[in-house]
Amino acid sequence: MFKKILIANRGEIACRVIKTARRLGVKTVAVYSEADAGARHVDLADEAYCIGPAAASESYLRGDKILEAARRSGAEAVHPGYGFLSENAEFAEACGKAGLVFIGPPPAAIRAMGSKSAAKHIMGKAGVPLVPGYHGADQDLGLLQKEADKIGYPVLIKASAGGGGKGMRIVEKAADFADALASCQRESKASFGDERVLLEKYLTRPRHIEIQVFADTQGDALYLFERDCSVQRRHQKVLEEAPAPGMSQARRNSMGEAAVAAAKAIGYLGAGTVEFIAEPGKGKSAGTFYFMEMNTRLQVEHPVTEMITGLDLVEWQLRVACGEPLPRSQDELAISGHALEARIYAEDPAKNFLPSTGRITHLSAPAESRHVRIDTGVRAGDAITPFYDPMIAKLIVWDADRPAALARMRAALDEFQVVGVTTNTEFLARLIACDAFASADLDTGLIDRNREQLFPAAPLAGDEVLALAALAELLAIERRAGERAAASDDPRSPWGTCDGWRLNQDNHHILVFRQGEREQAVTAHYRPGRYELDLPGGRRTLTGAWQPDGSLTAWLEDRVLRANVVQSGQTLDLFFRGARYRLELHDPGLHEIESEAHGGTLAAPMPGKIIAVLTASGAKVTKGTPLIILEAMKMEHTIMAPGKGTVKDIHYKVGEQVADGAELLGFELDKD
Ligand code: ADP
Repeated sequence: MFKKILIANRGEIACRVIKTARRLGVKTVAVYSEADAGARHVDLADEAYCIGPAAASESYLRGDKILEAARRSGAEAVHPGYGFLSENAEFAEACGKAGLVFIGPPPAAIRAMGSKSAAKHIMGKAGVPLVPGYHGADQDLGLLQKEADKIGYPVLIKASAGGGGKGMRIVEKAADFADALASCQRESKASFGDERVLLEKYLTRPRHIEIQVFADTQGDALYLFERDCSVQRRHQKVLEEAPAPGMSQARRNSMGEAAVAAAKAIGYLGAGTVEFIAEPGKGKSAGTFYFMEMNTRLQVEHPVTEMITGLDLVEWQLRVACGEPLPRSQDELAISGHALEARIYAEDPAKNFLPSTGRITHLSAPAESRHVRIDTGVRAGDAITPFYDPMIAKLIVWDADRPAALARMRAALDEFQVVGVTTNTEFLARLIACDAFASADLDTGLIDRNREQLFPAAPLAGDEVLALAALAELLAIERRAGERAAASDDPRSPWGTCDGWRLNQDNHHILVFRQGEREQAVTAHYRPGRYELDLPGGRRTLTGAWQPDGSLTAWLEDRVLRANVVQSGQTLDLFFRGARYRLELHDPGLHEIESEAHGGTLAAPMPGKIIAVLTASGAKVTKGTPLIILEAMKMEHTIMAPGKGTVKDIHYKVGEQVADGAELLGFELDKD
């Protein structure tokens, strides 16, 4: 066994690896970014080295600095965890060159699986079933379009180099193909530096079932059964379980054998996961499975496999990495009971799962036992930053069967309490309880199909609530405009007025309020001393003001409405007649008004990363011209020109992280 290993990762997985290493008497070396100096993984390790600033590209992705830390510490091997450099063949190679054991497969196996297209070629040859599709090298638009037509819609475009659910587009019809392809290529280029794509038949209700495999240096390989990861949100796993409900022994064997064949086909070593999508339901095709991709590392969800097999996969990784044979043979393995994992995230399900950053002021978790396991890298007092994945913990439960495991999960989620950041625990609790999940009617569309149960309808905002929300916003715009005018050299500057004159001839603002999935637009026309509002129920006159007690009073025609309104950023929490309404102000037009008035700059509507700069300083543009693409919440947001004008200086480069409200570029509107 190794005497000392370095863990080239952070967060829960670094802590997880340290735990096993310690049990085996292996010393551990942590690496950390400046933002992580006080992190749990740093405290747990025997020694730790700072490898650079917060941004992952300057720290956890810096193979050279990590190898330097390994050299200084005298570590013999490097465990890459998942994410970061775990599937980076160059890094694995560099470890070898530096005389270190990379705890993972050989670089050639990583390369073989690194491209989804290449992986499919290899798997097809090894006799593993593939989803009907196109994965050729020729990327000509005409050809791709023809292939897509041939496959039949809906078609899924995937980035060849993709991962983590990124770089995927579902195309419903031939006419949408070219646009979706361009957007997919752009995202792939920005995220993976490679714009090649592959096409697949899009299965409408598939299950995601993956097989854990392990291989040793003796050439043996086996499978540690399956995990069902069908419960996903935007192609990202939310809940995982093992075994897969409804899996027959025969199907398990054939999938397991296909996965082992896959591992053997590429000379695999260590832990790997072969992902399949399977047809759901009960019919003839039910359970038919197709190879999707192989992940050449330990998966986030490996604990459910550990819970049902009683094995420690990190221990297996360390053993096979130092040349020992697999600790067990296939026929010595058995499944016991049922395990579930829930990923607890700092995110706000009500805000479309927007990551919630901030300091965790309070964290209490259920006690760990034979039934409950918590893998985490954070403690109370730690901050969730925009630099890394906002996962707080993995909550894993085990019991004799699925219903009992579900009950465990329900109780454990109730006990998981976090203050300081918003979390998804209540959403997870609803998910566990929803009929489809409870009855194991699983497929990747489960969350979308059960939105009503999962995102309980807040009372819908009617005309009165919309009028109050519009009033709060219009008064806020007026107040900000007044403050700016007072602060400027010319208090009568048109930049300080807020009668909508700049936007159009008719002096109006369009405010779009989003409530859950629903969007409602309210048009406010400026009239002297009042507004005319176009509400869903018709045009109404509105006036109103904030009261000294902080409440808001509105006169909507002949009715007096009173509400408490809490405004934070784009969110309005409105308490009206005993009900609570949460409205999201969603209006690119509003950002335009705001940003142009902020001294002629355009600001980031939320924290994110710049993925494309589509303009240059000095460029003359018209209203709506895309200027910058920001990636936030794992989606692209396009910042557009608020009107006809000239781009001044651009403040950020592609790849840079920006804070909420950061000024992205200077912009001068044409005067006429
Ligand atoms: P990534 O590497 O980004 O995780 P995958 O290829 O593993 O991408 O796919 C992620 C998820 O996307 C799958 O778990 C599944 O839910 C969905 N998916 C992938 N391929 C298909 C397909 N052909 N039809 C339907 N859904 C798919």
